[in-house]
Amino acid sequence: MMKKEEGRVTALTQLEQLTRLIQKYQKSYYDGEAEIGDAEFDLLWDELKALDPANPILKKVGADGVSNTAGTDGFPKAKHRIPMGSQEKAANPEEFRAWAAGEGRRFIVQYKLDGASLELQYEKGGLVRAITRGDGITGDEITANALRMGGVLPALAAPFSGGVRGEVVMTHAVWQEKYTDKANCRNAANGIMRRKDGAGCEDLKLIAYDAAADGDDGFFKDEKQKIAWLEKQGFEVTVTKEFSDPSEVIAYRAEVAAMREYLPVDIDGLVIKDPATDMSDLRKARPEKQIAFKFDLETAFSILRAVEWSESGATYTPIGVVDPVRIAGTTVQRANLNNPDMIRSLGLMIGSAVSVVKRGEIIPKIEGLAPEGALPAGSLPAEKTAILFPERCTSCDTELVDGGTRLYCPNPGCPKRLLHRLEKWVSVLDIRELGEKLIRQLFDKERVRQIADLYTLEPEELAEYERMGELSAAKVIRHIRTLRTLSLAAFVAGFDFEGVGETIMDKVAAAGFDTLDKLRAAPVEELAAVYGLGEITAGTIALSLTETHDEMDRVLAGGIISIAAPPAADTQPLRGKSFCFTGELVSMKRGEAEEKIKALGAQAKSSVVKDLSFLVTNDPESGSAKNLKARKLGVAIIDEGQFLELLKNPGGGSDSVKKGEQGELF
Ligand SMILES: [Zn+2]
Repeated sequence: MMKKEEGRVTALTQLEQLTRLIQKYQKSYYDGEAEIGDAEFDLLWDELKALDPANPILKKVGADGVSNTAGTDGFPKAKHRIPMGSQEKAANPEEFRAWAAGEGRRFIVQYKLDGASLELQYEKGGLVRAITRGDGITGDEITANALRMGGVLPALAAPFSGGVRGEVVMTHAVWQEKYTDKANCRNAANGIMRRKDGAGCEDLKLIAYDAAADGDDGFFKDEKQKIAWLEKQGFEVTVTKEFSDPSEVIAYRAEVAAMREYLPVDIDGLVIKDPATDMSDLRKARPEKQIAFKFDLETAFSILRAVEWSESGATYTPIGVVDPVRIAGTTVQRANLNNPDMIRSLGLMIGSAVSVVKRGEIIPKIEGLAPEGALPAGSLPAEKTAILFPERCTSCDTELVDGGTRLYCPNPGCPKRLLHRLEKWVSVLDIRELGEKLIRQLFDKERVRQIADLYTLEPEELAEYERMGELSAAKVIRHIRTLRTLSLAAFVAGFDFEGVGETIMDKVAAAGFDTLDKLRAAPVEELAAVYGLGEITAGTIALSLTETHDEMDRVLAGGIISIAAPPAADTQPLRGKSFCFTGELVSMKRGEAEEKIKALGAQAKSSVVKDLSFLVTNDPESGSAKNLKARKLGVAIIDEGQFLELLKNPGGGSDSVKKGEQGELF
């Protein structure tokens, strides 16, 4: 099919832009001041390869053909013993499977360290030279600097002549302590190792992953033997595993990706190698018997094209619409902007270049403006325009209030707000049988407008909705009418006060406003004085308590819902402890389990955090992200049986509870 003329012009321009961008980044990378991450650079590289496979810059390895700057001119040049070619890359499981195809293969899998490559050259066991990557054939000789680094051995146990290859890295701990002015560990390591005076090299270390003996290609027969030999000489070596199935490698990559932020050094993927060492392959510009299996990219740059306002209850949340970018394996076009203050503090406009991030399972968000030069100048719009904020509620036409951290409709009778309150109540009580669709139908027919209306529903009328059978209607009603005793915090949070969740209400209750009566009588100034609350939130609580006064009374008068009496200190044996639940429980719903631990003074958390006391799961050995994180953080992981035991005997600190790696129980 013929393409339109403009289409071709665009493609050409895109190609030129891409080429220029790659050259620019290549130069900055080899000058030791990389502006973008490896993963991002690789995406550009792959895109160029796809658009124009014959492009000459794809043939060059390293900074060849790019003029050097003064920073590296001072070092003498030296040739590598093992040429440092470029690695083939797999960006996703499909590409990896394509490479890994074949019967009976085994795979050596190593952490791909994200630092700066260095080759150490030995003569009869003595270090004679250390050479940076350079163009892959020739690099800078930085021997004096290398000798100041950790892990660089001046002499080996064996009278070995040849090269040892490793990655110069900075640990997160060192970066955190001394180098937070550098964008990341890799930038810091790259800059420091090329300093003429060698200052700071003692903050770096070398982790080895490869070696080759001069004139003896048979010295190393396989990669495992090679790693063992390196270790025996005294090198720290990269983490190495062996797998026999590509699926195992893919699962391992996901596992490592989930925990990599807790590793001491940065890694940006895995290197997969054939177990048998093949020197002739290693000498190729692009060795075929190994591949870099990268992690998904987490940050990308794009242009903000529009802002949409997502409505949830009374709140209007800005969502940025950006030019599509690939992040973490998916194409992102919409990213969260949080609130009006965020837009103002970043000075965002339609047309701004922005950085979009997606970490873990979190939805993508716009984190800030993109750094200068992150996007090609030609791609930026000539004009920027202001972001417009909606002025009136789409549901009731009331003028919206811009509260800085929240743009919202202040009308207490706003239909959107009432519906949201019902949904919130159902979610706080975890009445899953009462689905969102059914609530909306009941709301639209004006059968249920307030929470108290839920408790007047009869099975017969429900059966008319959603083609619901009598049995399931009865089941829904049974769940609605299950007697429940809620903490004051949960009860109030269920009424969906704007921006006031259960955590805030827990603080209020802990400050002594621990019954509904005391709360209603509390002066705003006293509420505002509760730690972390502030005047605005206190004002919202006071106003909302007035607005929902009658509705709350109606709910309590129904006799199904009651508020737990304020706990005496000695009835809170789990005070100070926190629990996170993952997966289904057998004996109760998650919501009930959370109520039970709260009644004993503990907190419920939705994610695994550093100070979490327990992760409760019925599959403690699973490789789920929560499990891995808990193990890494040393959080105690317990199963349902142990959890029930703990509820029965909360003060006991049961022996049967399994400790995490560094876990402390009580
Ligand atoms: Zn409204």
